[in-house]
Amino acid sequence: MTDEQLLRYSRHILLDALGIEGQARILATHALIIGAGGLGSPAALYLASAGIGRITLVDDDTVDFTNLQRQILHTQVRVGMAKVESGRQALSAINPDIEIIPLQQRLSGAALDALVATVDIVLDCTDNFSTRHAINRACVHHRKPLVSGAAIRFDGQISVYDLRRNDSPCYHCLFPEGDDVEEVRCAVMGVFAPLTGIIGTMQAAEALKLAAGIGEVLTGRLLLLDALTMDWRTVRFKRDSDCAVCGPTAAGQLPGYLFRPAADHESAGTACRLA
Ligand SMILES: [Zn+2]
Repeated sequence: MTDEQLLRYSRHILLDALGIEGQARILATHALIIGAGGLGSPAALYLASAGIGRITLVDDDTVDFTNLQRQILHTQVRVGMAKVESGRQALSAINPDIEIIPLQQRLSGAALDALVATVDIVLDCTDNFSTRHAINRACVHHRKPLVSGAAIRFDGQISVYDLRRNDSPCYHCLFPEGDDVEEVRCAVMGVFAPLTGIIGTMQAAEALKLAAGIGEVLTGRLLLLDALTMDWRTVRFKRDSDCAVCGPTAAGQLPGYLFRPAADHESAGTACRLA
């Protein structure tokens, strides 16, 4: 670590649980943030400021005037710019010491699977159910820890699926795909601005703990927030031994990436779901 890094990260290094070793592990981590919107903004800002060494930021969208109410990576002069480029500028301004890889595309199928294979931690900051499932399948396939957040109206939720652990549930264990789920159209739904900040910041906290190898992450626990009352609930859940994604196959082997064309359907981007 250089003298400048020792100074920049000194308030982390002073933490007994984290220290210089934990910060070194954070610097050596490659995080994938999918979605540079309400959740991805605070998550990316904290991961960059805290020194995650390499951040791949994925989003196919451009900055819209209506995003500015909550998507704090972006600014009014960058309306119309690709969100990942706007994000790259914001993150580099805070910490030019780290590598930012902007990817302006909607990741799905084989491209998503291949990218997940190259990173250490995945943050799902997307707003739709089918993309969440595609990300989960890739993380199960490559045994990558997944930090998943969601926020709509005044309702937020967050959990971690640490798929390096054999007993960890996956996203599909908790939210089975193909059920008769209520899809909520995000585009016409409101969202309370700081709620995305609360959940996205917690995603950053869990990702940094995973990177540093400290504490206890939210594996097997779903936190639910009602921001109108500021009531938090914890739901504990276990791995579903019959899960179609993370359960063993008939041959007793772990399944590979289950490609589902339906997950790549373009209309998927217009809907989101919160339990
Ligand atoms: Zn599962």
